[in-house]
Amino acid sequence: MAGIPRLKLPCNLLRLAPFRPISGSALSAAALQELTQNPVTVRGVLDAVKRGHELSKSHIDYFVGGVVDGSIPDYQAAAFLMAVRINGMTSSETTFLTQAMTDSGRRLDLSRVDGVTVDKHSTGGISDGTSFIVAPLVATFGLKVPMMSGRGLGHTGGTLDKLEAIPGFRVSLSEDEVVHQLNHAGLAIFGQTADIAPADRRFYGLRDVTETVDSIPLIAASIMSKKLAEGARGLVMNVTTGSGAFMRDLGDATRLAETMVAIAQQSGLRASAVITSMDEPLAPYVGNALEIQQAVRILAGETSRFERFIDVSIELSAQLLVHGGVYAMEDIGAARVALKQRLASGVAFKKFRDMVAAQGGDVRVIDRLTLLSQSAQIMGVLSPRDGYVSAIDATKIGLASVYLGAGRETVGAPIDPAVGIEVLKFVGDPVSKGEPLARLHVNNCQKLGAAQRTFLDAYKIVSDNRVKPGKSILATVE
Ligand code: URA
Repeated sequence: MAGIPRLKLPCNLLRLAPFRPISGSALSAAALQELTQNPVTVRGVLDAVKRGHELSKSHIDYFVGGVVDGSIPDYQAAAFLMAVRINGMTSSETTFLTQAMTDSGRRLDLSRVDGVTVDKHSTGGISDGTSFIVAPLVATFGLKVPMMSGRGLGHTGGTLDKLEAIPGFRVSLSEDEVVHQLNHAGLAIFGQTADIAPADRRFYGLRDVTETVDSIPLIAASIMSKKLAEGARGLVMNVTTGSGAFMRDLGDATRLAETMVAIAQQSGLRASAVITSMDEPLAPYVGNALEIQQAVRILAGETSRFERFIDVSIELSAQLLVHGGVYAMEDIGAARVALKQRLASGVAFKKFRDMVAAQGGDVRVIDRLTLLSQSAQIMGVLSPRDGYVSAIDATKIGLASVYLGAGRETVGAPIDPAVGIEVLKFVGDPVSKGEPLARLHVNNCQKLGAAQRTFLDAYKIVSDNRVKPGKSILATVE
């Protein structure tokens, strides 16, 4: 049709921030004024972050809002993530990003919970199932533990996947169910609903495929946005470091811990972080049903081969007893003693069982572990030489278990609860040629070769100089 020519305009260049409301939170008057005076565009934000210029709160709110409402496409969101991964963020930018991501969705309302709420979060690792000990143990002291958890990421296992190895266990709970369960059983472990921190879901999916997971501001904002939206009053974070962790380096792990604790404190959340070693699997069992079995054995009082796992669980729990006001910080030693006694007494086992029953799980598998899913075959991986284990690349152990089917290689792929690895040799252990380093629990031979090779590749065995195992707890950030 003749007449006024229609120009196809590059929309992102022209769409100014004030015309697009931020989902979940209105722009403040100051932010609106700033944006009106200095209109911001998506490409303007990308240019600033590319050059390492500090972004203001309104720039970050604008960008996160666009990511959540879908008006900013994946390629621009991915460019933002890569620029942040490379250039980092200042602490103010990280705080603003966390706030915008928290406000991108709704918050859980835990005001109807009768008691002090506390939670624990781990940055991930191998055989890192301490939630199954910490949550029930802390709940036996009268604290309420709403534990919003995730699925496996990359080579690391996921709390929800592990719990689903218990037939019938429901990880999707409504807010009313969470509140009811906290008031009756004292603990609930459940998945994040779609409306909690939706910006994190969008960002995380992109980070996973663009090599931008290992960024301190992005990890801090991802974890803390979910924790702030969850609304517990106290929080302890297990920040893992070493060969099986996202933060390989202790300095980076310390910076991540400090960043998250600072964000928590600015938001009025009592928080601390324990930095723990993930330079080898935390405990022998890697896999979903296997890790449930491991947790139940520990809750039932077994300690042999689980010492490092128990030490980390006790330290995380002690921090929560302090945040929950059960012990003063100066009495944290007494908290550790009391926790060890409770763990040995079996009361935490009963709490765990109550949670399984409340969430529809079949408690018979907790009472008789042989009823948990079992793999069709168990195969040994044999040591190629005599010597001492001097190092283990824990990421490779995690990957080997993913190849067996215990984790996902693509988003949404099914996992096999029965398969996984029982690690028999740890750093410092002597080994003989032909002796099993591990038992693989196998259902499908398709990737067995890759799993075996990757597992063996993880081990460094040296002939003489015996290496001492490292400490499991490296530092605490309070
Ligand atoms: N866990 C999260 O929830 N987010 C991250 O970025 C890393 C670990």
